[in-house]
Amino acid sequence: MSIAENVQAVRVRIDAAARAAGRDPGEVTLCAATKVQTSDTIRQAIAAGITVCGENRVQEMTAHLADDAYRGAQLHFIGHLQTNKVRQVVGKADLIQSVDSLHLLQAIQAQAEKLDLVQDILLEVNIAGEESKSGLPPERAVQLALQTAALDHVRLRGLMAIPPPVDAPEKNRPFFAAMYQLFVDIRRKIDHNGSDIDCLSMGMSDDFEEAVAQGATLVRVGTALFGPRPPRTGAV
Ligand SMILES: *Cc1c(COP(=O)(O)O)cnc(C)c1O
Repeated sequence: MSIAENVQAVRVRIDAAARAAGRDPGEVTLCAATKVQTSDTIRQAIAAGITVCGENRVQEMTAHLADDAYRGAQLHFIGHLQTNKVRQVVGKADLIQSVDSLHLLQAIQAQAEKLDLVQDILLEVNIAGEESKSGLPPERAVQLALQTAALDHVRLRGLMAIPPPVDAPEKNRPFFAAMYQLFVDIRRKIDHNGSDIDCLSMGMSDDFEEAVAQGATLVRVGTALFGPRPPRTGAV
């Protein structure tokens, strides 16, 4: 199948999952997870209707930006972000989905202040409490959300989660449901003008329909759009 056919097929499945859950399909954004893809492949995806690209690695993102590969789409940063790379991402990504510490938050605030802009962010939550994963413990999320709300160059737009890989998508249902509860709770507690906190990013190729059923407003899909990724070569 071509990328265009895959984009279409995934979109049809998102729409069906939304309708089955009594939701408006227009509430759910399909973000293409473009790690390891070429600039040309990214352009094909955007030509096929992708409106948001999600990048994991600062280096790849910088190279694609130099190619102007994201033209016509929004750019989200979805990978683990080190404080020393904040400079390369703030003001370049429309949304940084992976903020998981006060330290990182403050580094983003400082760089955004320097550039005189407001950086949109999501807080990444380690919803399954996996030891080896990045993300905040769920019980820290409200506190960091309040700390975000106090900063004038960072705007909290919502939450992101990467649940564990599972052999059956419904096994992640409790994690998606818990994320939705946390999202609703944070929205209620930090309700500036009632519209800023509008993004719940969860669900990948293997489980995006389950995530949509539980309230995701953005799903991050790689393999189902681009096919299996080759193993990475070189240093991480
Ligand atoms: C790679 C990646 C995805 C997409 O994964 P697939 O299983 O290929 O759909 C989603 N989110 C993040 C953070 C990723 O790194």
